Amino acid sequence: MSVILTLLAALIATGTCAYHRSSLRTWAIVTIVATLVVGLIAHAPWTTAILLIVELLIAVPLLLVDFRRRQISAPLLKLFAKVTPKLSETEQTALEAGTVGFEGELFSGKPNWHELLKQPKPELSVEEQAFIDGPVEELCGMIDDWQITHELADLPPNVWEFIKKNRFFGMIIPKQYGGLQFSALAHSAVLQKLATMSATVASTVSVPNSLGPAELLLHYGSEEQKNHYLPRLAVGEEIPCFALTGPYAGSDATSIPDFGIVCRQSVDGVDTLGIKLTFDKRYITLAPIATVIGLAFRMYDPEHLLGEQDDLGITLALLPRSTPGLQIGRRHFPLNVPFQNGPIHGKDMFVPLSTLIGGPHMAGHGWRMLVECLSVGRAISLPSNATGALRGAVASVGAYARMRKQFGLAIARFEGVEEALARIGGLTYATAALSRATAAAVDRGEKPAVPSAIAKYHATEWGRQVAGDAMDVLGGKGVQLGPSNYAGRAWQGVPIAITVEGANIMTRSLMIFGQGAIRCHPYVLKEMQALSITDRGEQLKTFDRLLFGHLGFGVSNAVRSFAMGLTGSRLGESAGDAYTRRYYRKLDRYSAALALCADVFMGVLGGKLKFKEKLSARLGDVLSYLYIASSMLKRYEDTGRPEADRPLLAWAFHQCVWNMQMALDGAIRNFPVRPVSWLLRVLVFPFGRREVPPSDRLGRRVAALISGPSEARDRLMEWVYLTPTANNTVGRMNALLPDVIAAEPVDRKFGKAQKSGQFTTHDYMDQLAEAERSGVLNASEAALLKRVREGVFEFISVDDFAPEELRAFKTRADK
Ligand SMILES: Cc1cc2nc3c(=O)[nH]c(=O)nc-3n(C[C@H](O)[C@H](O)[C@H](O)COP(=O)(O)OP(=O)(O)OC[C@H]3O[C@@H](n4cnc5c(N)ncnc54)[C@H](O)[C@@H]3O)c2cc1C
Repeated sequence: MSVILTLLAALIATGTCAYHRSSLRTWAIVTIVATLVVGLIAHAPWTTAILLIVELLIAVPLLLVDFRRRQISAPLLKLFAKVTPKLSETEQTALEAGTVGFEGELFSGKPNWHELLKQPKPELSVEEQAFIDGPVEELCGMIDDWQITHELADLPPNVWEFIKKNRFFGMIIPKQYGGLQFSALAHSAVLQKLATMSATVASTVSVPNSLGPAELLLHYGSEEQKNHYLPRLAVGEEIPCFALTGPYAGSDATSIPDFGIVCRQSVDGVDTLGIKLTFDKRYITLAPIATVIGLAFRMYDPEHLLGEQDDLGITLALLPRSTPGLQIGRRHFPLNVPFQNGPIHGKDMFVPLSTLIGGPHMAGHGWRMLVECLSVGRAISLPSNATGALRGAVASVGAYARMRKQFGLAIARFEGVEEALARIGGLTYATAALSRATAAAVDRGEKPAVPSAIAKYHATEWGRQVAGDAMDVLGGKGVQLGPSNYAGRAWQGVPIAITVEGANIMTRSLMIFGQGAIRCHPYVLKEMQALSITDRGEQLKTFDRLLFGHLGFGVSNAVRSFAMGLTGSRLGESAGDAYTRRYYRKLDRYSAALALCADVFMGVLGGKLKFKEKLSARLGDVLSYLYIASSMLKRYEDTGRPEADRPLLAWAFHQCVWNMQMALDGAIRNFPVRPVSWLLRVLVFPFGRREVPPSDRLGRRVAALISGPSEARDRLMEWVYLTPTANNTVGRMNALLPDVIAAEPVDRKFGKAQKSGQFTTHDYMDQLAEAERSGVLNASEAALLKRVREGVFEFISVDDFAPEELRAFKTRADK
């Protein structure tokens, strides 16, 4: 017994120090003192002596820094240099671009929640709010998505004109150049609102405000280029596009075969230094109507007219549409969401060097320029469009499910439909928080490389889930396209969002964890960078500090993960209120588990982990759900901890935690080195998988919440265009919703009378009149039912067409 007590004391002392991340010195002192004191009290002299020898044998070499550096760190540095995979230039550029924000804390195994909660609450300025209530509202009122998607396959001229005149294309352009200079949050809000009316309009507006000529000019353009282009881009006098993708270079954009050869040519009789360009680009948004084309190509200087280098690398130029030889104007047809999109070609086209963005000295820097700017656009465009679509689904499907009756009940009441409604509500809550957090990061001046990938992937994947759920709940009403269908086009367009700005499979399997692990990890990138320190002494000193920091970090995460797994995340201090405290603790546990698994996976598999995409995708999922859950908790705090939102927060939180558990379980289960997998299972899931997905009862509360007016539903529908204009079925449905709900008890009374067979007529309206005459309903009740019946009929109706009306395109034979 005394032996066990002494051993336990040493173990608990070590574990407590590791849990709290004490220094090596503190650990040594605490463990030795604990062993000594308990050993003496328990009268276990031999055990105490043996333990003390072991502890001293470990502690002394580690605390003698010079000895440790020479005997331990130096050989390990050699080994590390040998096994560390050499990063390609492209990977190096991707890693160096971007900053690390709160996601770094999530990777630390011990997030500092105070850092998250002290971030300022993101808010729109008065001017930005006025823009949303003014021009955006007006634009939404002008949109007829059926006309756009079916009749014109384009925006009508008045919509184009309005967008340009009101500087929708200049949201990211500073005021000094005539732009709106909006915050990322405002930019996101505008896109969200437009997306609730038309994916085509939202996509059209998002592209000039995303990565493209304006963004590139702002960061790298010469003064002359900025002064020339930016004021014209801001007011839509110039329409931009950016051409990177081609038939041979999609996801692997650095492999573009398009090239430009530096040469001299006579232009209007003047000998001019320039580039002869040959390129084949496709899928380029706005290309068919663009007046200024951002072009990525590989630049070569075989005659050394610019310098010594032959292959200068990826370079970016801005070509006016009038450039001789430019083949542009044909259109692709992206899934019936007909924003302007098409191919661009050029062969041996000569352009002067002044077309290079930033001038000739920026030749070869194109990839770095793109990657540095990519995260900002990716953080806003796709996540905002998807969030708008999700918010729109709450407004439309929530209301519809309350209006549409089958088997004598609103379909929202059926448990099967409830499941879909719960997903719509819960995932909208999560996605909205995620988009807001990512926009806020951009507004804080971050370049959120990892969060932007998380936001792009999860917002669009949840967009896909909710678009499917919406169609399921709407049934035939969603399937039959026409002016009154508000869901079909959004559903059709889902794969576009999944594909662009980093196709989702690659984003999940390669980028989120790949970048996250190296960028956010407190030691890995620094250790890799230590390899390039040339002063040997300095290198060893740095490596030694990092190595032992890293080892302590690993041990601490193992202990934290195990301890929190054993106690069901009930340990420790935490942030939040009485309701959310357990949520923060749960995230602490998964943060420690992620940090532990990431270290072990990287340590055991080394560079091979890059090719184990299924493992890296799952660890990326854990990081993503940690980030999303943190965003929701921050949103909950920022909105004053509203009680009304709790079912949404709880549903989305439990879903995230469940997903995290399954992702970690999958990663550990499939780890190829079995003993490591067994050990990790004990440390991460000491009692097995204990998390459960959101309960049916919780799902019922969320479904009820989105299918009737409430404060929480209003918050979910923030920035949905709800004005009940003629072009806005969803707005009019929501205007009728209070009446629909008020009519429910009256309808039950009326239904009872119908069932009792007391009416002599069969037509609904005739029966209403009978009910009023016989006193079953009073006049205002009968008027309410009549109003609701007529209103709902409009919303459950679908369009039909004369056969020739559907023949919008010429057949091949007609051409
Ligand atoms: C409507 C639309 C608009 C666009 N607008 C523009 C634009 O304005 N400018 C522009 O330059 N480009 C644009 N693009 C191109 C877009 O960025 C590419 O489509 C995208 O990069 C994917 O390339 P791809 O379609 O050739 O797919 P591929 O690269 O062929 O990928 C096919 C599949 O393989 C997966 N995959 C590829 N590599 C990996 C990997 N290493 N690991 C795991 N999975 C992988 C992808 O995730 C995808 O699922 C647009 C595309 C579309 C469809």
